Amino acid sequence: MINISPKKHSHERSNSCGGTHHATGGCKSNCRAILNHTRTKLIDKKEFLDKAELREIYELPENKTGELLQLAHDVRLAWCGNTVEIEGIISAKTGACKEDCNFCSQSAKHPSAILPTKFLSNEELLEAASSSKDFGATEFCIVLAETGPSEKTMQRLEEVVPFLKEQTGLNINVSAGILTESQAVRLKQAGVHRYNHNLETSKSFFGNVVTTHSYDQRYDTCKVVKSSGMQLCSGLLFGLGELPLQRIEALIELQSLRPNEVPINFLNPRPGTPLEKQPLVEPIEALKLIAIARLALPNVILRYAGGREITLKHLQSAGMTAGINGLIVGNYLTTLGRSPKEDLDMLEELNMPIGSLSSLF
Ligand code: SF4
Repeated sequence: MINISPKKHSHERSNSCGGTHHATGGCKSNCRAILNHTRTKLIDKKEFLDKAELREIYELPENKTGELLQLAHDVRLAWCGNTVEIEGIISAKTGACKEDCNFCSQSAKHPSAILPTKFLSNEELLEAASSSKDFGATEFCIVLAETGPSEKTMQRLEEVVPFLKEQTGLNINVSAGILTESQAVRLKQAGVHRYNHNLETSKSFFGNVVTTHSYDQRYDTCKVVKSSGMQLCSGLLFGLGELPLQRIEALIELQSLRPNEVPINFLNPRPGTPLEKQPLVEPIEALKLIAIARLALPNVILRYAGGREITLKHLQSAGMTAGINGLIVGNYLTTLGRSPKEDLDMLEELNMPIGSLSSLF
């Protein structure tokens, strides 16, 4: 277990939600009861936590963070085992997006340095997929900066997904924005294994960061993905300025969609975006968020995604023992990730085998 000492030593210390816990025997027994109840419900009974239970555990005082992380790790092992799934990712069509997501340097609405590109060729995509496979990836995700796929994009995807699948044997995933029901069915028929569409944040905060489309459009896309038979990948981005309770809200909203994979992103403020001066999530808070996400979503592939290097720095392996069981190797969409070798070395040190987790579902 990681030893995390509380920063404050006052008799009464603030918690992350702005409430208070008394450093008395009463708190001690209450904290113990909360941790025991969570363990029993998730590990012994294999039941999901509700919003009130999740909030209660998120509000535990800082001196319980080590136990919280350990519990999240135990929950991950009980539901998913110790295998880690690796995914390669490529931005197949970058920039010039018509949406105005405040955190994204691919939006044409912000003065960003990202140069738009056309849809990459089959050969370029094959090269990236093959290289991911060499690093142990079982999944490869094609990401497009679009509101939703145009007919031209749909036809390209219907051509390239079977091609990559046949050439590499990898599961091919797609992230191309808002989908209609018939588009979801077509992508399923083309062989798309998992479709990514992030909720990003809670419904109550969403309007603060995106105005060109609604939270409901995102939520509905996740629903059509599920009903098409594709696996659903839907993630969150922490550190946008959301309140602690809105993080719990977002996790509960995600839980209602029963996703298969949940990428966890931390804001890496990009120059030229409205959030360029937003402070980073504190490393210990980031670990706590990973643990809370695992407790909210015990059965998912909880994948480290963007912002982990800048946020967690030397604590990245601590996330792997706080609930994470998926990695994206190599470069992210608009920022550079650390080298695949560093990640593979980390997994070896942790004695965590690499493999597909699709069979969990
Ligand atoms: S997050 Fe996606 S939809 Fe939003 S601006 Fe970026 S590429 Fe476009």
